[in-house]
Amino acid sequence: MAILMDGKALSDQVKAAIQADVLKITETRKPKLAVVLVGDDPASQIYVQSKIKACQQVGIESVAKVFDADITQIELLVALKRLNQDTTVDGILVQLPLPKHLDEQEVMLNISPEKDVDGFHPLNVGRLHLRQATFVPATPKGIIALIKAYNIDLEGKDVLVIGRSNLVGRPIAQLLLNENATVTIAHSRTQDLKQLTKAADVIVAAAGVMHLIQPDTIKAGVVLIDVGIHRDSNGKLTGDVAPSCYEKASYYTPVPKGVGPMTIAMLLKNTMQAYQRQVKQHEV
Ligand code: NAP
Repeated sequence: MAILMDGKALSDQVKAAIQADVLKITETRKPKLAVVLVGDDPASQIYVQSKIKACQQVGIESVAKVFDADITQIELLVALKRLNQDTTVDGILVQLPLPKHLDEQEVMLNISPEKDVDGFHPLNVGRLHLRQATFVPATPKGIIALIKAYNIDLEGKDVLVIGRSNLVGRPIAQLLLNENATVTIAHSRTQDLKQLTKAADVIVAAAGVMHLIQPDTIKAGVVLIDVGIHRDSNGKLTGDVAPSCYEKASYYTPVPKGVGPMTIAMLLKNTMQAYQRQVKQHEV
C-alpha cells in the first residue's frame, strides 16, 4: 500500500524543535525575520501572514514591511539597505512576485547574502551549486527533509524533476544530484514527458499544471513528490499529481499537507541559521 508522506506532521516536529531551540537562547536578542511585501496581491498577503504566524508559533520575532504597489525601485532598495544594516534583523525575505515595474533580480542582489533566508541571492545560488554551505531555498530543502524522514534511498535512482524554475525546479534538481540520484529535468519544451514519467523511480512534479501526472503515465512503485498547488472546480486544494495516482505509488506527498507545510518550516530553520551565524559573528 502506498505510504503518505505527512508534511504537516514532519513540519510540526521541525517547528517544535525550533521552538525548543528558541527557548534555550540566552542572548538578550531573539531571532528576527523581516518580510517585505509590496502591493496588495491577496495571495501574497496570505503567504506573508502565514509566515508571520509561523514565526509567532515558534517564538521567532517578525516584522512585516508593507509598501504601496507604486513604490520606486530606489525606495525599495533603500528600505532593504536599512534592513541589511539592522543588527536585530537576521533574515530578510521579499515576497514574490513584485509589481512589474520593479526589477526582481536587482532587488535580490540587494539583500545581504548573510540574511537571504530564501536563498535567492546569486551568491547563495552559486554556493548551492558548488555544494558549499548556504541558505537552501525552503521548498527544495523541505522536499529533501521529507524524503530523508521516510528513509527513501535516492542513490542511483532515476529522478525526474518537472519544472526548471529558480524557486523549485533548479534547486531541487541540484540537491537531488547531491544525493547521488540520476536527475532528469523536464520543462514545457520537453518532447515526450510521458516516456520520462513512465521510466522515473521518483517524480518531483513542479510544473504548476493541475493533475499533469496521471496513473497511466507512471510506473508502479514510483515515489511521487507533488509541489503544485491548485484549486479544483470545487474549490478544493490539489496538486500537479492526480490523486488517482496514489494507489500506484510506493510513497506520495498529498496536497495539501505535503510539501507546503515543509516550506514554511524550512524558512524558520533558515532564519535560525541566519541568527546563529549573526550571533557567532558578534562573539568574535
Ligand atoms: P513556474 O515558475 O511557473 O515554473 C513552472 C515550470 O514548469 C517551468 O519550468 C515550466 O517550463 C514547467 N512546465 C510548465 N508546464 C509544463 C508542462 N506541461 N510540462 C512540463 N513542464 C512544464 O512555477 P514554480 O514557481 O516553480 O511553481 C510550480 C508549482 O509549485 C506551482 O503550482 C506553485 O504554486 C507551486 N509551489 C508550491 C510551493 C509549496 O510550498 N508547496 C512552493 C513554490 C511553488 P518552462 O521553463 O519551459 O516555462
